[in-house]
Amino acid sequence: MKFDIVTIFPRMVEAGLAEGVVSRGIECGVLDVRVHDLRGFAVDRHRSVDDEPYGGGPGMVMKPEPLVRAVEDIRRRRGKADAVVLLSPQGRMFTQAEAVRLGALGHVVLLCGRYEGIDDRVRALVATDELSIGDYVLSGGELPALVIVDAISRLVPGVVGDSRSVEEDSFSRGVLDYPHYTRPSEFGGCRVPEVLLSGHHEDVRRWRRKTALLRTLEHRPALLDTAELDDEQRAMLDELRKERGLS
Ligand code: SAM
Repeated sequence: MKFDIVTIFPRMVEAGLAEGVVSRGIECGVLDVRVHDLRGFAVDRHRSVDDEPYGGGPGMVMKPEPLVRAVEDIRRRRGKADAVVLLSPQGRMFTQAEAVRLGALGHVVLLCGRYEGIDDRVRALVATDELSIGDYVLSGGELPALVIVDAISRLVPGVVGDSRSVEEDSFSRGVLDYPHYTRPSEFGGCRVPEVLLSGHHEDVRRWRRKTALLRTLEHRPALLDTAELDDEQRAMLDELRKERGLS
């Protein structure tokens, strides 16, 4: 999977790529991530990437030429990308489903804004997608780019050591993950649920499926409206709703 990230703060992005799962994916060659300094594509000798807004008002706006030149340079050197994503709080919400969609593509370019945002013509000229990581405003697109690269990379075979962890993650199957415990079996007066110590695999499997549904019902009930549940899960959910007087 190929990513190209365009930013005025390349060191900030590189620092975020240098540890953990994504860095291992890069080291073993499953991920090919390049970070591009937007100033290298500026058109004047001061290497300016921003200018005052037409119509007046506060702050600066990112100029269109450097961003469009960066995307053209990436196309020449790295091939035409399957998606060019503009990071913006006004974009469509980035979700696990969106991570799966982008992960199925081979090459994604991420454009990080700063200041008041990016000249709006960039959207029409080069972007295929505009994505937000949540309903809040950050100072730049670097953290959203790292979030998106991380979420997609986890889905690329070979990046996460044991693919079962990814399959069982929250949202992967439309519901939240089940609770996890490790040694010691008793801590702070709280004991690990007996079933997990029983060694009975079928009971553990059923307990995990049911507690995943319970978590979802308690924390994110709206997910259950669209989750694709099998017969066993539907029966468990009915049971949980009855136990809680919800049906
Ligand atoms: N004036 C813009 C607005 O209100 O829509 C906000 C600009 S923000 C200070 C600067 C840059 O940070 C944006 O161009 C975008 O690249 C990035 N950014 C901020 N919040 C974001 C979010 N929730 N998701 C994705 N990108 C975000």
